[in-house]
Amino acid sequence: ENKNIVVGRTFADKDSKEEMPKPTTKFEHAFEKFPDLLAEIKKAGFEKPSPIQSQMWPILLAGEDCIGIAQTGTGKTLAFLLPALIHTDGQPHPRGIKARGGPNVLVLAPTRELAIQIEKEVGKYQFRGIRAICIYGGNDRNKQIEVVESGVEIIIATPGRLNDLVADGHIKIDSVTYLILDEADRMLDMGFEPQIRKLLLDIREDRQTVMTSATWPSGVRRLAASYMKNPFQVFVGSLDL
Ligand code: ADP
Ligand code: MG
Repeated sequence: ENKNIVVGRTFADKDSKEEMPKPTTKFEHAFEKFPDLLAEIKKAGFEKPSPIQSQMWPILLAGEDCIGIAQTGTGKTLAFLLPALIHTDGQPHPRGIKARGGPNVLVLAPTRELAIQIEKEVGKYQFRGIRAICIYGGNDRNKQIEVVESGVEIIIATPGRLNDLVADGHIKIDSVTYLILDEADRMLDMGFEPQIRKLLLDIREDRQTVMTSATWPSGVRRLAASYMKNPFQVFVGSLDL
């Protein structure tokens, strides 16, 4: 396969001599400190990390912000999800292991279908009791509030419904320290920018932010510039595009 891979700081000056994080070409390298997670990855039967995973994992595991740009089907979900699980596990649990201190990870996705797909992916990795909930319009609002109150570490949501629940004070997202904007270009195309910007007002600034996109238009660049801290950017594209 003829892949073109570019990694760098998105907004760095072109003379920067900073060294880029080394890609991890083996699951064992990226997650050597987490044998229980490695065992879960083994179950999926994948041979090796996809190019975007091998580039994004070291960046995200180092706590850096990162934008992953690659077309559909390149493995972007696990690229942000496995570091999210590790991030969650590393957070303090003020109310004990059973009821941790509120959601640590928020994934915003453009459609309910995609949100459900991400939730299914989370469900495959039984890692240290981490729990997730999917929040989208059209399903039982009270049930969603109840589950969040009973304790979840990961919220996967469409911006519209989550914004309603946060605005009404039913769900608090001020404990979120790892934010993902999945398919940012599609979320903007669908007109979610105002809801995203409102939600961002409630999320702490000392967080890690990840964005994925299939394209790199000016709207997505603007989002990155306003909400990410000196992000890395990983571009994986076919040379023949
Ligand atoms: P994207 O978000 O880039 O569109 P997905 O994360 O949905 O892509 O992944 C596309 C498919 O590739 C999924 O079926 C997923 O299970 C599979 N996949 C993910 N990582 C790997 C890997 N390292 N090796 C093989 N298949 C993978
Ligand atoms: Mg995806």
